[in-house]
Amino acid sequence: MPAEAVDPAGVTIASGLIQVDTGYLRAAHTAAYLVIDNGRAAIIDTGVGHSVPRILSCLDANGVDRDAVDWVIPTHVHLDHAGGAGGLMAALPSARLGVHPSGETHMIDPTRLETGVRALYGDEFFDREYAPLTPVSATRVVSLDDGESVTVGARQLDVIHTPGHAWHQLSLHDPLSAVLVAGDAFGASYPGYAEGTSPFLVPVVPPPQFDPDAYYRTLARIRALQPCRVAPAHFPVIDVPGIAADRLRAMLEAAVDWTGQADSSEDLLRRLVEGWAQWLPAGIESAAFERDFGLDLWLTAEGLWHWRQKQARRATR
Ligand SMILES: [Zn+2]
Repeated sequence: MPAEAVDPAGVTIASGLIQVDTGYLRAAHTAAYLVIDNGRAAIIDTGVGHSVPRILSCLDANGVDRDAVDWVIPTHVHLDHAGGAGGLMAALPSARLGVHPSGETHMIDPTRLETGVRALYGDEFFDREYAPLTPVSATRVVSLDDGESVTVGARQLDVIHTPGHAWHQLSLHDPLSAVLVAGDAFGASYPGYAEGTSPFLVPVVPPPQFDPDAYYRTLARIRALQPCRVAPAHFPVIDVPGIAADRLRAMLEAAVDWTGQADSSEDLLRRLVEGWAQWLPAGIESAAFERDFGLDLWLTAEGLWHWRQKQARRATR
């Protein structure tokens, strides 16, 4: 879909809660969310640096002044969620940047983050999709603990730490709408895969911080919260979170088993493509799955393989 076909005002998913397509990689791949309440606003997730003009246009289209934005909150510091933080903070004079305590230093000085991401994706991908990263002044960064709330107008958003995909992952629950904005804590999906009562999401677990037990605990916690809807960063809103949580757990348990059986990350990738196909919605071929989730599947195979090697090193110590 060409960029101009995307509605600059975004898509309202609940009262005062708007999904914005950040344009990262392709349409309907990565979202940010805008919360508007009583003339004040918060932005949850930023997309990449190139996403900043889209998010600012969304503010304009919804009549939100630049100085009415109180918070910019990347759910974690992976660059499709936090790469636009520096650019947005430069454009939003009243905003504070809320991040998980483990992500704080990476927003103030993104040098190490950049090195790690270049090592994983390569320079060409980094320069095309992520550059440049700009630091955020430490005076504007606030670390958000589990159980804290942030205020947007008359609304409180509850901060929930949701590790598993990454240690520095948090999600925000809006009690007013009962929507959980999950970041990457609740898998990834795309249009055509996630709708209905049998949604298909993939538990994406990139290197180097995958932790299966933390991921299972996060899914149980989200289930216990009983949100009406879960709004993931990738991409459609999930209307049956309980069913989706159980599926994600089953898919991850299977993937952990395959990780033990595989003899290389390439072999593991093949097992993921073939094994997870059993959960695909009717009528979707595994070739389409492999194409649409290609980056997610590769990242997950790498993340699982990295975790297995870490386990093996621990065992021989
Ligand atoms: Zn991520």
